[in-house]
Amino acid sequence: MTFDLTQLLAERAADNFTLHERHLNPQFVKMLKTIGFDRRYVRAEGQYLYDDKGQRYLDLLSGFGVFAFGRNHPVIKRALTAVLDADLPNLVQLDVALLPGLLAERLLARMPSQECVFFCNSGTEAVEAAIKLARAATGRKRFLCCDHAFHGLTMGALSLNGDAIFRDRFEPLLADATRIPWNDLAALEAALRKGDVAAFVIEPIQGKGVNLPGPAGKGNYLSEAARLCRKHGALFIADEVQTGLGRTGRFLAVEHYGVEPDLVLLAKALSGGFVPVGAVAGKRYIFDKLFDRMDRAVVHGSTFGKNNLAMAAGLASLSVLEDERLIENAAERGASLLQRLGALSAKYEMLKQVRGQGLMIALEFGPPKALKLKAAWTLLESANKGLFCQTVIIPLFMRHRVLSQVAGHEMLVIKLLPPLCITQEDEDWIVDAFDDVLAQCHQLGGAAWDLATTMAKNALRLQAGA
Ligand code: PLP
Repeated sequence: MTFDLTQLLAERAADNFTLHERHLNPQFVKMLKTIGFDRRYVRAEGQYLYDDKGQRYLDLLSGFGVFAFGRNHPVIKRALTAVLDADLPNLVQLDVALLPGLLAERLLARMPSQECVFFCNSGTEAVEAAIKLARAATGRKRFLCCDHAFHGLTMGALSLNGDAIFRDRFEPLLADATRIPWNDLAALEAALRKGDVAAFVIEPIQGKGVNLPGPAGKGNYLSEAARLCRKHGALFIADEVQTGLGRTGRFLAVEHYGVEPDLVLLAKALSGGFVPVGAVAGKRYIFDKLFDRMDRAVVHGSTFGKNNLAMAAGLASLSVLEDERLIENAAERGASLLQRLGALSAKYEMLKQVRGQGLMIALEFGPPKALKLKAAWTLLESANKGLFCQTVIIPLFMRHRVLSQVAGHEMLVIKLLPPLCITQEDEDWIVDAFDDVLAQCHQLGGAAWDLATTMAKNALRLQAGA
């Protein structure tokens, strides 16, 4: 009998939770069941997910930014089908295929200050490649990164991670990585002055917490940081794995700040949501230092890098981005959402700030002034820092079918990272859902605080090891 995937999926449709419990990650299944996120999604289109009961969900998580162009986009699907139908040779390895060249050409057309591209399979691999390029190009060892930075979880990238929770138990990592405070030019210059820094690796907007760089315009943090790097002979590497490809309302987030990085890292959205891919774009002289002789032509690479399906997904994704004016949509919808969600902070005292750029938005919460609410808040936050966010995220999902996430560990920040194709109707859905849930959170005795008390008790019990 020939393999029939459709039949397999139909026959085993109800087995996903059991299979994950048994063979993958039982703790993750337990977590999903505890917070009531254990839905069985059966279909997805654009910004929407559909469960087995036919309910529609608005996805503000986008698979951590992968589905910037929406799920199952017909243009990207067609491109992938065309690759399969063409029976192309793939990964011959001792050849130079057309598709990687075409994708490099198209990417570089959007980044005029860059000249070369290296393709790999993920964001963290793009960071690993950048680490090697920077060491080869400068002959120096040290890297600078920021507190709260996130650049991926392989050992090199993890060395540049700003949060201890990710690093603990995995050390020793790269010995020559130094963390400096975000938005602190004096600390950057002090570290650069030692003359041993290969590169400063930075997210233009930090994913963990959605921290914005010092204000746009002349003399802003990012452009000054790039200038200082150049002055001290270090590379300025922009990790645009999350912010790139239109997310912030420009092709690259650094464009808001007039910065031309030495290397730009991309991944996530370039996949079209289908085929993992990562890319490092940079100046030719840097690439020439890594691949400096014929016998070193393959000193860095990856077996699946440049594979046809990933390259086609990237090309089709860039077409969709342009044809559907998604960068413009991200800028317009983002500005409108920032304004409308920001207006809720006048109504709800625990909503302290709404910030972001384009469709990368954070809602930051803080303690209430009202005495009764304050006691409930303290109970919750002493059980587990950042737990309050769950009193918003869970009802947003349960009552409004809006899928969102916290912006990092132990933070009072909720992050919105929707597909760039969201509409006016979706925008209303988001604002109405937050308005309703925040109103509940500000009424003591309501369902939100019942949930909160249960969560706090569970967290305390877990911490006590019960
Ligand atoms: N860099 C940034 C800024 C990221 O946000 C991420 C992932 O979230 C990575 C790197 C790592 O990417 P990947 O998960 O594809 O390895």
